[in-house]
Amino acid sequence: MRLSRYFLPVLKENPAEAQIVSHRYMLRAGMIKQQAAGIYSWLPLGLKVLRRIEQIVHEEQQRAGHIPVLMPTMQPADLWRESGRYDDYGAEMLRIKDRHERDMLFGPTNEEMITDIFRAHVNSYKDLPLTLYQIQWKFRDEVRPRFGVMRGREFLMKDGYNFDLTKDDALHAYNRHMVSYLRTYERMGLTAIPMRAASGPIGGDNTHEFLVLASTGESEVFYDDRVTALKLGNREVDFDNRDEVLGVCNEFTSLYARTDETHDAALFEQIPEAHRRNARGIEVGQIFYFGTKYSEPMGATVVGPDGVRVPVHMGSHGIGVSRLLGAIIEASHDDKGIIWPEGVTPFDVGIVNLKQGDGATDAACEDIYKALKAKGLDPLYDDRDERAGAKFASMDLIGLPWRITVGPRGLANGVVELTSRRSGESEELSAEAAVDRIVHIYAAHR
Ligand code: ATP
Ligand code: MG
Repeated sequence: MRLSRYFLPVLKENPAEAQIVSHRYMLRAGMIKQQAAGIYSWLPLGLKVLRRIEQIVHEEQQRAGHIPVLMPTMQPADLWRESGRYDDYGAEMLRIKDRHERDMLFGPTNEEMITDIFRAHVNSYKDLPLTLYQIQWKFRDEVRPRFGVMRGREFLMKDGYNFDLTKDDALHAYNRHMVSYLRTYERMGLTAIPMRAASGPIGGDNTHEFLVLASTGESEVFYDDRVTALKLGNREVDFDNRDEVLGVCNEFTSLYARTDETHDAALFEQIPEAHRRNARGIEVGQIFYFGTKYSEPMGATVVGPDGVRVPVHMGSHGIGVSRLLGAIIEASHDDKGIIWPEGVTPFDVGIVNLKQGDGATDAACEDIYKALKAKGLDPLYDDRDERAGAKFASMDLIGLPWRITVGPRGLANGVVELTSRRSGESEELSAEAAVDRIVHIYAAHR
C-alpha cells in the first residue's frame, strides 16, 4: 500500500477520553472511531489487525479439529426462555421488539442457538464428537464500557461449543481448547496464562480464564511467576491423543495461577516467596465445561451405543478477538507508539522515502516495494511529500515491526537502512539484502 493513497487518519494530539495507552494509540493511529459508548467503526489499519487476529484464531481452531459456522447476531427470545436465561441474564442483554411485537435480542453469547442447531440435525452418538465455532459480533450492554475495544458493548468474539457423549469426552474437548488457545496467543506474541476462574452466567465448575499480564488489566491475579516462562513453541500436538493433550494442560496449570474469584490464600502462601506474584491481568479468553446445563432443558440428546437417548455433554469456549488488539498493545508499546508483534502486524514493513521527488530515491523505493510484494509480503510505502521527522513519527506510532529507510546519501554508498521497531537498532545493507532479511523474518510467522 502507498500511504499517499491510503486512509490513515492519524491524530497528533492525545485524545482526552482515552485513559489507557492501547485506547490512546488506537485512536491516534487511526485504527478505530467511536460511534457511541462502547461501539466502534474499524478504520482500515484497525481492520487489518482485526483480520490477522481472526485468521490466527481460525487456523488454530481448525488445527484442533473444530468446524466454523456463522450464526446471526439477532436471536429470538424464545430460545432463551427454553434455557431459562432470558430472565436470568439481566440488563447486559439488549432486548428488542420487531414490528410484529416479537421479542428479539442481540446475542451476548450463543449457547442456546448452537444447541438449537445441534438438536435439529444430530441424533446419534456416531456423529460425535463435534465442536462448532464462529467469529461473530456480540452485544453486551455493559454498565461501564471503557478502555476502547477492551470493554466494548459491541465486540467481536470467537465462541466455540463442543458436543460429546460423555463427561470424559467433553473434558478432552476442554483440554483441546486449552492447548489450541495457548498456541493462538503465542502466535500473537502474547503470554496468556490459563488461570482457574469462576463461571458467571455461563454456568459449570470447570473453567479457566486466559490472562495477559498488564497493569491496566481489570482482573486481580495471583500466580507463581515461573508460569510465565512456559512456552508451547512449535511442538506438534496430536489433538486426538488424550494423554498428550492432557499432559500439555497439566504442564501449564500445575503452577499456582488464579483470579481473585478463586484465589486461595493458604495455597498461595506455599509458593516460595521469591516467586509469589499479585498483579493485574486482561482476560482474553475463557473455556467452560458445563455438562448438560443446556442440552437437558433444550432436548439436545443423542441415541447412545446402548440405544438409550441421553443429553449431550457440552462446553463453551470464548476468545475476545477485538479485545485482543487492546491487550497486545498494552503488552507491546513504548512512548512513541505501538510495537506490533510480527504475527499480527497490519503491514509487514514500512518503507520511508527520505527525499520524495528525487529520481533515484523514488526509483529505489519503488523497486523495494515491488520486490517485497512479489515475495507475498505486505509493505506500507510512505511516499508522501513530508519531512523525514514526520514520516518517522507516523511509522513509530503505527508500530510496524520493521522499517526500511531509503535516502540519497545511503544510495550513493549502495545501502539502505533496516530498523527494528522493537530494539530501535539499525543496520545498513543493500536493498536486496534488506528484502531478503524481511522475507526470512516473516517465513517463521506465516
Ligand atoms: P468480562 O469478565 O471481562 O466481562 P466475560 O467473562 O463476561 O468477560 P466471556 O463470556 O468469558 O466474557 O467472553 C469471552 C471473551 O470475550 C472474554 O474472555 C473477553 O476476552 C471477551 N469479552 C467479554 N466481554 C467483552 C467486552 N465487553 N468487550 C470486549 N471483549 C469482551
Ligand atoms: Mg469470561
